[in-house]
Amino acid sequence: MYLFDIDGTLLNATDAVHYFAFCDALTELAGRSLNLDGVTAQGNVDNGILRDALALAGVPDHQWRPRLPEMQQRMCAFVTRDQADLRLQVLPQVPEVLDHLRAKGAILGVATGNLEGIGRVKLAHAGLLDRFHFGGYSNAHEFRHEVFKSAVETARSLTRADASICVVGDTPADVRAAHSNGLDIIAVATGIFPLATLQAESPTRAVSSLAELLIHPL
Ligand SMILES: [Mg+2]
Repeated sequence: MYLFDIDGTLLNATDAVHYFAFCDALTELAGRSLNLDGVTAQGNVDNGILRDALALAGVPDHQWRPRLPEMQQRMCAFVTRDQADLRLQVLPQVPEVLDHLRAKGAILGVATGNLEGIGRVKLAHAGLLDRFHFGGYSNAHEFRHEVFKSAVETARSLTRADASICVVGDTPADVRAAHSNGLDIIAVATGIFPLATLQAESPTRAVSSLAELLIHPL
């Protein structure tokens, strides 16, 4: 069973639709123009990015936490509305790798920091959504290790409780979150992090591209 991150692992977005959805929700909440300057988005999850941006802007927790569902809805509606502007590059051999794993009988899930309404739109646009048996999204979580834990619970409910599970992700945060859940992880250097940076986190395996998984199969 495999759990795939989306951004930097399955695809890279060259548009800013998701980014502008954050800015729109933050600006609406704060009543003044806010963006993600100074916020770490890579390896973060959508709720965590909102939390970090609002903390940086000095908006206290009690002002935004009750309105988090409203911000999530606004972001998903924004991306749905502007989805024609998405520019998604499916990373090399990703469809082939997913088809290869499915042909071997593997259960494939998503474990992503994206909100469900955003992650599903991206996967559908990239032509990948139908290749997954289930999705683990970040709506109820603020940290990546929580997203993975929840995705694992879903995954185990679909097969055997003792089935082996391997995460595939592109950031040091993915490797750490997999380790903290006791999961194997394949780190792939198709996001912004070079192979050596990922290797330094001691993943189960590190590859420069998922295409390598077809040459040296799992
Ligand atoms: Mg990623």
